[in-house]
Amino acid sequence: MSWQEIAHTVRPVLNEAATSAMPLVVRSLVYVCWKCSATSNPPAVLHPGGATDQYSILEVTSGLNLAYVQELMTLDHNPIAATIKPRYSKTRGERYLSHGCSHCDALFGEFPLQESITAVLADDAIADLPIQLAAERPIIEWWALTSARGDIF
Ligand SMILES: [Zn+2]
Repeated sequence: MSWQEIAHTVRPVLNEAATSAMPLVVRSLVYVCWKCSATSNPPAVLHPGGATDQYSILEVTSGLNLAYVQELMTLDHNPIAATIKPRYSKTRGERYLSHGCSHCDALFGEFPLQESITAVLADDAIADLPIQLAAERPIIEWWALTSARGDIF
């Protein structure tokens, strides 16, 4: 098959994916701050509506996935959006887009958040996490995120 034939086949699919919406859900952890001991709700996973198994969820602890969820939160005027920002990590020795405490702004490190998500997955309890946001988004956004696997293209 030539590139032209592939492009001819793929373009209508991409156009459909760009204009058709799918339900996406963001769920939060109930997370106790290591610094001030108050409870925050950092967005932890993103998944298609109704699909909460380990193969359907994306962790939103850093990078592209977190940037995407920050944008969804901002569009939704959700105050949690303000808790997602670049912070300096002593562990990593650099600033990165991170979650933080909604009370004292302490950085919530990527690794401890991932450990918490892993524990929830082990209990098969993703569906029990509180829903932070539910939105209809173009299908192509989900494709881009799942293709990129959290990395920048
Ligand atoms: Zn705190």
